[in-house]
Amino acid sequence: MTVRAMGAFSGGLDGLLSARLLMDQGITVHLATFHSPFFSAEQGRKGAALLGVPWRSIDFTGEIMALLAAPPSGFGRGMNPCIDCHAAMFRILWETARGEGFDFIFSGEVLGQRPMSQNRGSLNRVRNLSGTGGILLRPLSALLLEPTKVESQGLVDRTRLLGLSGRNRKPQIELAGKMGFTNIPTPAGGCLLTDPGYSKRLRTLMDRGLCTPDSARAIRAGRMFDLGDSVALVGRSEQDNRKLEEHPAGVMMRLDGAAGPLGMLIGKPRRDNLTALARLMVLYARVPGTIRVVAEGVGPFTAAAESPEKAESIAVRLP
Ligand code: SF4
Repeated sequence: MTVRAMGAFSGGLDGLLSARLLMDQGITVHLATFHSPFFSAEQGRKGAALLGVPWRSIDFTGEIMALLAAPPSGFGRGMNPCIDCHAAMFRILWETARGEGFDFIFSGEVLGQRPMSQNRGSLNRVRNLSGTGGILLRPLSALLLEPTKVESQGLVDRTRLLGLSGRNRKPQIELAGKMGFTNIPTPAGGCLLTDPGYSKRLRTLMDRGLCTPDSARAIRAGRMFDLGDSVALVGRSEQDNRKLEEHPAGVMMRLDGAAGPLGMLIGKPRRDNLTALARLMVLYARVPGTIRVVAEGVGPFTAAAESPEKAESIAVRLP
């Protein structure tokens, strides 16, 4: 009988090693990486290619947006609801895997590697919240955890699993060498919800009822200004401008006939907040002479100033 397992895989070394441990036992492994406005599946795609196993990405946007609004287990240091996020990922992964005839799911989690979300209590809580019971295997720390149903039913050989714990990466790096991985992936991380600066921006959006997948993506770029019940973004560079254009989450503002920052107003457009954004655009434009600003989607709107120093003189005329 072929045993089949599906892994939750961010693309990091721990996930890679977990998958290989199982593959070395003759288990058929597939991998899945979740993506949302806060983390991408790209590193997972690359990691799975190193192993040469089937891989898929799963859109997690709806789940993570709901968790951000009300995470039953609370947030970590930033806006990261890690316990509930992991639990939801495993629940979805098992629903998917079970529907396709897989025998169990696994992850690269290591006991004690992250003090808050991967201590023994958190690992057990995630398992219980996910509703996956005994079919969630953590191959790298299995010997330090209670045997799962997967092990007691003989689907995997527990003696060939590991008992790693803590933050020291040396054992994993040595194991990667023994397994012949020459290109060791950098730690996956990469979740914006753990970033203090981004978390602050996101909190501002949420407190004003402005958080959507598009606005959560838009605030990854540009300078951000809190305008009370709305938020303004002003591009700092061409790259910022491009990112803002890729994720329109409100009224877009641009300089008329001149290169410069792109602006975005997230929230209900009114004369006062459009004026505030137009002023910011002019201030950061640093273009000599008269500057005209045009906005899209709010009718024939323009604002002009003779120079950045005159930004305060801008008064917006709405149709
Ligand atoms: S770091 Fe981000 S993706 Fe990972 S469990 Fe926490 S919230 Fe979810």
